[in-house]
Amino acid sequence: MIRWATSGGGISVKLDLIVPATQENLRKRRKAICPPLGLAMVAALTPPEVEVSLTDENVTAIDFQKETDLVGITALTITAQRAYEIADIFRARGVKVILGGSHPSALPEEASQHADAVVIGEAERIWPNVIDDFKAGKLQRIYSQRERPSLVSLPIPRRDLFAEGTYYCTNTISTTRGCPYACSFCSVTSFFGHTYRCRPVEEILKEIETLSHRKLIGFVDDNIFGNPKFAKELLRALVPYKIRWVAQASVTVAKDDELLKLAAASGCISLLVGFETLSPANLAAVGKRVNVVDDYETVIRKIHSHGIAIHGFFILGLDEDDEDVFARTVRFADKMRLESAQFAWPVPYPGTALCESLDKAGRIVTKDWSRYESNPVFEPKLMSREMLRRGYDRAWRDFYSLPSIWRRIGIARRNLVPFWVMNLSFRAAWRRKSRTGGFVAPRLTGI
Ligand code: SF4
Repeated sequence: MIRWATSGGGISVKLDLIVPATQENLRKRRKAICPPLGLAMVAALTPPEVEVSLTDENVTAIDFQKETDLVGITALTITAQRAYEIADIFRARGVKVILGGSHPSALPEEASQHADAVVIGEAERIWPNVIDDFKAGKLQRIYSQRERPSLVSLPIPRRDLFAEGTYYCTNTISTTRGCPYACSFCSVTSFFGHTYRCRPVEEILKEIETLSHRKLIGFVDDNIFGNPKFAKELLRALVPYKIRWVAQASVTVAKDDELLKLAAASGCISLLVGFETLSPANLAAVGKRVNVVDDYETVIRKIHSHGIAIHGFFILGLDEDDEDVFARTVRFADKMRLESAQFAWPVPYPGTALCESLDKAGRIVTKDWSRYESNPVFEPKLMSREMLRRGYDRAWRDFYSLPSIWRRIGIARRNLVPFWVMNLSFRAAWRRKSRTGGFVAPRLTGI
């Protein structure tokens, strides 16, 4: 199915990059928060003679009849089942399929049952070889990028491939990769490694200058402040751009006044912070050494004092949690006037230490990935799965009740409208999805 180009002399290949939909989005597509930046980078790494298209099934239906030579699919655990279905459909037509992303990287043997090739790890360096091998008809079963690629001279992601009008924030950008920590529930370290790699600041600025609407930028790093020296250099350089931005950060940011000042001066409006749990024993068990529960209130007050909002992440149902955890966590988030928050139960993602330990203890109830999106799939220690499910629903309901939103945000604050809109959107999403079989809000990553 490889065609010779009519001009230019090289082999012309049509490549479709696909993001499988979650089950919820498959039932009804809606505008999504962020576009798939990772696949836009894969598109940018693809040799120019290859014609690339990108379909995010969460927002656009896949055209299974489309003329194509090669399909690349990225998969998370919650979308793995759908990724395999898509792969099988294309392969039945004789189209070669490559699978990559965090789930196939953790379980390459499983993924290779549905693919002609599996890419393990980050795509830089190996992706051009994969394309060359495809053109030569010599695709290998597994391509492994175990070494962490340098982030110097990365191409600009192909944002032109995103479907227009389908994302709330198209201006996402990555400045770092990796994490020096190794929290047991998080797949960032297993995928991106323990090393914290930073892009050159001047290259980040050049990329920012290519963005069409620069008013609001979402930095998709797992922790934008992982290297304070780099972060300060970046933030100083951002000041003249007069943008507003949001990013994920760890609680350690509150220890560095200069960093917080620079964050505010460069336009930071909200930080997404992983508090995870109010139990020191839980923190110790999951290995989140950067967090100290006793410091949480100080951390929150400090960030707020710089006019920066906080979106908190909390995990409910860890081993030290009993039924009281739901009300206690919501009370804390409410009392500290977090502008928004997400609550999740622990998910044993393949490749994580959490998955390994729960598996060893026989506490994982299913490896049917299609059930990972909207059900607890492990046996909690101090409550039943049903209690966890109900408590989780209650936490969302209470935190996004109108009185709670009013208490936390009120009417007299900076950036009032976006925070009300965000809270009402979370409230609407929870109400809608809890009616249709469960709501699991997406966690951006793992900070
Ligand atoms: S949860 Fe955050 S701090 Fe922990 S390993 Fe993941 S990215 Fe690093």
